[in-house]
Amino acid sequence: MSLTYDALFIGGGWVQSAGATPITVVSASTEEVLGQVPEATRSDVDAAVGAARDAFDDPAGWSRWEPARRAEALERLADGLDKRAEEIALRVSGQNGMPIAVSRQLEAVFPATLLRYYAGMVRDRDPEERRPGLFGGTTLVRRDPIGVVAAIVPWNYPQTLASFKYAPALAAGCTVVIKPSPETMLDSYLLAEAVQEAGLPPGVVNIVTGGRDIGAYLVSHPRIDKVAFTGSTAAGRQIGEVCGRILRPVTLELGGKSAAIILDDADLDLATTAQSLFGATLLNNGQTCYLSTRVLVPRSRYAEIVDVFSGFVGGLNVGDALDPDTQIGPMVSAGHRQRVEGYIAQGRAGGARVTVGGGRPAQLEKGWFVEPTVLADVDNASVVAREEIFGPVLSLIGYTDVDEAVAIANDSEYGLGGSIWTSDPERAVAVARRVQTGTIGINNYLPDPTAPFGGVKASGLGRELGPEGLAAYEQLKSIYLDSPPSAN
Ligand code: NAD
Repeated sequence: MSLTYDALFIGGGWVQSAGATPITVVSASTEEVLGQVPEATRSDVDAAVGAARDAFDDPAGWSRWEPARRAEALERLADGLDKRAEEIALRVSGQNGMPIAVSRQLEAVFPATLLRYYAGMVRDRDPEERRPGLFGGTTLVRRDPIGVVAAIVPWNYPQTLASFKYAPALAAGCTVVIKPSPETMLDSYLLAEAVQEAGLPPGVVNIVTGGRDIGAYLVSHPRIDKVAFTGSTAAGRQIGEVCGRILRPVTLELGGKSAAIILDDADLDLATTAQSLFGATLLNNGQTCYLSTRVLVPRSRYAEIVDVFSGFVGGLNVGDALDPDTQIGPMVSAGHRQRVEGYIAQGRAGGARVTVGGGRPAQLEKGWFVEPTVLADVDNASVVAREEIFGPVLSLIGYTDVDEAVAIANDSEYGLGGSIWTSDPERAVAVARRVQTGTIGINNYLPDPTAPFGGVKASGLGRELGPEGLAAYEQLKSIYLDSPPSAN
C-alpha cells in the first residue's frame, strides 16, 4: 500500500505546497515505495513559521492559556497518539527499518507518555515565584514560554525525538514548527492528524517537509525564537554556528561513541543479560545515538568475553523490520549501508579481527541489511573506535585496570551515553562518576523521561527530558519589587 499526501499541516489545516517535486519514502526492508509527500518550499516554511508566530503572539492564545487548560489539550493529543499507536509503529518500522517490536515499545508509546508527564508537571505550577532579596526587598521571578520553536528531527526515532521537543515546548506555552527527516515523513502525518483531532489552536503545531536546505532555512528564519535539533554532530556544528551568530537559543543532541565498561567481576550469563546488553549496544540496528558501541574488555577475561559477545551478536535474528521476531533490521538507506560497510572494511584494514558478521546476510536479497558484526582487538586510536558507525557493529577494546578503562572511555570526541557491567553496584556507581558523559547505565541502559538526557563534548549542548527539558523552553524574567533604595 502506498500513502500519498498532497498537502502540509500548517496553521491547523492542510495547505497545498508550492513545491513541484514530491519526496518519495521507501521501505528499508523491501526497497518498495511506501508513499510520497510534497517537499516544502521556503514560502511554505514562511507560512508555517507565520502561523506559529501568530498563534504564539495571540493575546488570548495558547501561550496565555492557563497551564491547566494546556495540560488538558496535551492529554487529548496523547490520547490521539495512543489511538494511532499501531499505525505509528508500522509506518516508522516500514520506513527506517526499526524492528517492529522496538517501535511498538518506543515510538508508539514514548510521545504520549511524555505529553502526559509534562502536562502533569505544568498543570498546577505557578509560573511566578517570590524570592526574598539579600539586600531587602523581593524579586518576582517569572517563567515565560520562550516563543516559536523550530524542532528538527532525525530519522532514527522520528516520533520519540520529535516529542522530546514538542512535549515540553507545548507544555511551556511555546508553538512549534517540526521538520522531520526526508526518510521518515509518513509517520509525521499521523502526528498532524492527532494534533487536529485534539483541537489544539491553529498554528500551535506545524509540520514542514524537506531535507537539509529547508532545515537550514528554518534554523535561521527571523521569526523563530529557539532551535531544538537532534542529528549528526556535523549538522549540529553548522546549526550551532548560525544560532551563535544570531544569538538564538539552541539545544543540540548530537552523535555518540559511548563505552560499555565490562568490569572483571561482570556476570555476562546471556540467559539473564542478553536483553540488557542488546538494549545498551545494538538497539534499532545500531542506529541509536547513545549506544555503547565501544566495548571495553578486561584483559584477564578477554578471550572469554570476546566469545560471549560473538555468540550473542551472531545469534541475533536479522530480518524484515515488520516481522515481530526480528531483532536486527536493515540500515535506513542504501547510502547508509555503504557507509557502515566502509567502516567494517576500515576496521579490518586497521588490524581488527572480525569474529562474527562482517558482510551482508545471504538470505536477504532485498533491503539494506548488514550482518551484526563484532570487531575484536580494536585500538582506541583507530577509526572504528573514534567515529560513529551507526550500524550493528561493536568494537571490542582490551584494558588492563579500571584506571585504563576509564581513560579509554574518556578518550573520545563524544560523551553521550555509556554503561558499566559488574556484580558490584557500588563499584559501578564509583566508575560511572568518572566517565565524561551526559548519561550512563548500570548493567543496562534506558533513558528515563524524568531525568535530563543529553551529551557533553561533541555530543551536544543542553538537555532534554525531565524538568530541565521544560526549562529549555522557558525564559526567565526578574521583576524587582519594593527594592531597597540604593546608597549614594
Ligand atoms: P542529520 O544531521 O543528517 O539530519 C538530522 C536532521 O537535520 C534531518 O531532519 C535533516 O534534514 C536536518 N539537517 C541536516 N543538516 C541540517 C542543517 N545544516 N541545518 C538544518 N537542518 C539540517 O542526521 P541523521 O543522519 O538524520 O541522524 C543520525 C544522527 O543523529 C547520528 O549522528 C545520531 O547520533 C544523531 N542522533 C543523536 C541523538 C541524540 O539525542 N544525541 C539522537 C538520535 C540521533
